[in-house]
Amino acid sequence: MNIKDNLNSIHQDITNACQSAQRHPEDVQLLAVSKTKPAEMVLQAYQAGQRHFGENYVQEAVDKIAQLSHISDICWHFIGPIQSNKTRLVAENFAWVHSVDRIKIATRLNDQRSGQDTPLNICLQVNISEESAKSGTTINELAELAAFVDQLPNLVLRGLMAIPQKNAPKAIFEEMNQLFTRLKSQYSTIDTLSMGMTNDMGDAIATGSTMVRIGTAIFGKRD
Ligand SMILES: *Cc1c(COP(=O)(O)O)cnc(C)c1O
Repeated sequence: MNIKDNLNSIHQDITNACQSAQRHPEDVQLLAVSKTKPAEMVLQAYQAGQRHFGENYVQEAVDKIAQLSHISDICWHFIGPIQSNKTRLVAENFAWVHSVDRIKIATRLNDQRSGQDTPLNICLQVNISEESAKSGTTINELAELAAFVDQLPNLVLRGLMAIPQKNAPKAIFEEMNQLFTRLKSQYSTIDTLSMGMTNDMGDAIATGSTMVRIGTAIFGKRD
């Protein structure tokens, strides 16, 4: 397995999916999901030109971020479920959080970001498939959460994130795109629809995703 080859092949897949959807490839960003994978693999991807990395587990991520702290232009995204006792580590170590799904977490991230030079970029996670075990706000609560995050000084509302259930119908992806388009017309800072993983990247790009989160196809299967 060669990380550089995998990245090239994913970029080609993104380009092809964009062509089919009549979209510009530069409008879809690649987030490399490095959870469970060692810092050396992140470094290999970095050396192949990758800059944005996604992590799910706070402590694992913080260790990796420290190991790679000599590299100034890696952009770290937190994409996992957030417990309120971990918000400080998230606020202090990441540039983006994709998994904000309630007011309490947003409040804590805002308070704990206050010492940093730049605000934290926020995507609101929507439980689009309405799976009871999954994180994410309901569609009904989304407008209130967006308005709340928008007025916090240390957070910037950048968009929405979703993890559609396995083999979700394309209508689910389209529904996310509609929510995104509506919110984007209300808030000038919104530009990001974080949607699409190794197995559903094509549908996600066809339905407006601007950031795909790819792990397995870059770094191989996880244990
Ligand atoms: C693990 C994970 C990914 C990457 O999934 P792959 O199927 O390995 O591409 C993307 N997003 C989230 C939220 C994840 O937890």
